[in-house]
Order: sequence, then structure tokens, then C-alpha cells
Amino acid sequence: MLKLVNRAFSRAYMPVSLKYVSLVAYIILIITGLAAYSTDAAFLKELRNTNLGNLIVWSYWWPAIVFLAIFFGRIWCMICPVEIITTFFAKIGLKRKRPAWLLSGWAITVFYILILFVGIQGFAIHRNPFFMAVYLLTIVGVSVIIGSIYEKNTFCRYVCPVGYLLGMYSKLSFLGWRVKDRQTCESCKDKSCIHKNYRYSLNYKSCGVDLYPAKIEDNANCILCAGCLKTCSKYQSEPNANRPNPQLTYIGFANDLFNLKPLKLAEMFFMLIVSGFVISEIWSEWPVTDGYLGYLPGLVKSAIHVENSMLFGFVKAVIIFFIIPLFIWLIPFLVSKLSGATIALKEYLLTYGIAFIPIIAAAHLDKAILKTTSRLPYFEHLFFDVTGITTAQQIIDGKIKLYDNPVWLNIMVSVLLTLVMVAGIWLSIKVIKRMNMKERKTASKSPLYLIPVIYGSIFLSMIIAWRWF
Ligand code: SF4
Ligand code: SF4
Repeated sequence: MLKLVNRAFSRAYMPVSLKYVSLVAYIILIITGLAAYSTDAAFLKELRNTNLGNLIVWSYWWPAIVFLAIFFGRIWCMICPVEIITTFFAKIGLKRKRPAWLLSGWAITVFYILILFVGIQGFAIHRNPFFMAVYLLTIVGVSVIIGSIYEKNTFCRYVCPVGYLLGMYSKLSFLGWRVKDRQTCESCKDKSCIHKNYRYSLNYKSCGVDLYPAKIEDNANCILCAGCLKTCSKYQSEPNANRPNPQLTYIGFANDLFNLKPLKLAEMFFMLIVSGFVISEIWSEWPVTDGYLGYLPGLVKSAIHVENSMLFGFVKAVIIFFIIPLFIWLIPFLVSKLSGATIALKEYLLTYGIAFIPIIAAAHLDKAILKTTSRLPYFEHLFFDVTGITTAQQIIDGKIKLYDNPVWLNIMVSVLLTLVMVAGIWLSIKVIKRMNMKERKTASKSPLYLIPVIYGSIFLSMIIAWRWF
């Protein structure tokens, strides 16, 4: 199977033709979103599920790319239309050197925070088709600006938070982009995979995201564009049977995770915020936990008398996306310190921070399962009215009755949610175990198992209480 995929990559039209197909789909989704403007909260409650763009983007496209990243790596980046847009503008743009702050990774974390605070909390881009479309256009706009200013493919590696998150989840992937034989690369004279002559080609291109295929050790940054495979094959100075050398390779499930490579500070901060985001994503599914989610922000609201809804949204975001996860991340550290561990806070956050990733990924996967299955009843009406305006009104007026998902499907969903979360916790435990063995201080670091225990049970206990009792 992988042989076939790699053979397909060596064809001129792969994967670039898929990007053009997804570009057309992207444009259609944006148009349907822009055509469905509303600020009526009750109407939007239905419209978000009846509008083609909003339904596909949040209930199928986003869950699908999370699923694909966890099992197969950054497959989405392979067909992402934004990559060809930013690459094209880099080709005709100013090609300026990237400043250090951009290369540090903090730009992505800041962009992600802006999306959460302004996009999700302020404009409800996940619930409002019009603002969803504006969000997609903003991503394109930023990719055009970044592409026009900076050299190479700066956007995909140093700005896009979607790719960054997928890179984190692809630590779990079975597959990775690696070379068949490092020796071939060492003796290679042309190094066409990184040659500047092919940097701004749109298809047979050398790596635009600063990777040298022979040195790739994890899935974090490769966007699977297959450019290096093509250049390696086409521009050989001396024919070599091992070329093309780069290819999609089976590396074993969670191989990157078990490499225990510490996070960078910007990555850690990014994952800290994502860890709060997924709590809100899962807990908001059940009215009981949704109520708990609003409890602390509600207390703060009455204590400091915040009446402005925009300001309250900001305060709520700070509490849910930053303060609560920070507290959760710190408990295992503080307990281990009290038990005599000598680990420093920064070392803990960067090294043991990776133990949160499988649980965060499991929570995201659970959200994906809930989204895709719960929106199935809307599908039969979707293609008759792509803006969803008439359908939403008919649902509100009682003229359309949506069917309930069958009981067997709901049971299957409950089983899947539970198993996925158990798997996430189990992987996290394995990470801690390996990390403790690596550090050779098992006794004083056993409280660090509180990471999977505390963070995992936030999800698992909710899922069990909600779905099984
Ligand atoms: S990937 Fe191909 S072009 Fe690049 S160094 Fe290796 S053999 Fe040479
Ligand atoms: S390493 Fe190869 S496949 Fe990965 S991003 Fe660079 S050129 Fe594309």
C-alpha cells in the first residue's frame, strides 16, 4: 500500500492536483458561509448545522484532519490549498529573511491565541457560518501576506496553527516522511532536495520548510508536499537506484512520542492552551459539565462586575484556556517537589509536557466522534439548501423534524469515546514511565503519574458519567 502511495507521489500531478480540488472545495465552503449572515442566536443554533460550509468545516473537515494526523501524520497539509497560495506568493514576493521571533515558534502560539480569544470567544467562528467564512479568508489573507514578504514557505511552518497542532498530534502517527538510506544522502552531490534553484518551483520543489530529508527525525514540520521526493528523482547528477530517497515510511505507532523529545517553550505554551481548549470542547457537550465550565468565570464576573459581554468572553477565555490548564499542569509538579524530586519547573514543563499530548489528542478525537455522528441527521437536507437558511427556519417552525440517531450508533459512540480516552491515558502513562526511566529517578518522580491520572480523569469521568449512567 505504502509503495503505491510513494509511487503516486512521484507522478507530476500528485499531490498538487489534490490541492486544486481542495481549493475549489474551500472556495465553495467560503461562499456558502458568506451567504448565511445572521446574528440571531436562536437562529444560529440551527443555522450552524444546516449551512453547508459551517457543517462541513467544523463537523467533518476539522474532525477528519485531527483523525488523519493522529494515525497518519500531516495528511491534511499534503492537500491543503493554502500551501499552494502561500508558495505562489513567495515565488513572486519580496523573499525577505525571516526574523528570529518568527522562527522561534511564538508567532504560531500568538496566532492561535488570537483565534481562540477573538475568533472563537468573540465572533463564535465555530457557530456562525458567516464568521467561519471570514476566518477561512483570514487564514488565506495571512498566508498571502506572509508569503509575499518572507522567503521560502514561511507560513506553513512558522505561522499556521492548524499545521502546528497537526504536527503535535502526528507524534502518534504510524507513518512518517523519512529517507530510505541516509548513506545515499551523505554521498549525494546535487542535494537537489534542498537546492536553492528549485526553492520556488510550484511542484518539483526543494524543501520550503527548512528540512533536510536525511535529518528528519519526527513528523512535526514536514508538510508532506513530496517536493523533495520529486526533485531527488528528477535532478540526479549521478543515477542512483536508491533515489528518490525520501518517502512515506512506516515508523510504528507513537514512535515520535516515545522519542521523548522535549517541547520548545512556545510549543509547551501552545499545548497548555490547547489542553484547556479540549476541556471546554468536551465538557460543553453535557449540560452538567457545561454548567461547571461556566462556574468559575461566573464567580469572577460577579466579583469584578463585568457587564460587557465581549470583556466577559475574554475573562472566560483566560480562565478556561489558561488558568485552569496551568493549575492542572502544575499539580503533578508541585506534588513531586513535595515528594523530594529535584526537577526544575522549566524542565518539567518541557519534558513531561509531552505526556499531556496523547490525552489532548484523545479528547480531540472524542470531540471529532461526537461532532461527526451527532450532525448526521442534518445531511438529508443539506444539498437542497446549501446556505441552510430555509432549512434552519423550517426546523425552528417545526416543519422539518430531524430523526434521532439509532440506539446502536449512540452505544457505539459511547464505547468509542471511552476506549479512545483510555488509550490516551495509557499512552500518557507509558510516556511518564519511559521518561522516569530515562531520568533514572523513578521514586521521587512517581507523582508525575498524576498527569494522566488528573488530566485523563477530567475527561474519562465525565464521559463515563454522561454516556454510561
Ligand atoms: S534526499 Fe535525494 S537529493 Fe536529497 S540529499 Fe538525499 S539523495 Fe540527495
Ligand atoms: S521534507 Fe520533503 S515532503 Fe517534507 S516538507 Fe520538505 S519537501 Fe515537502
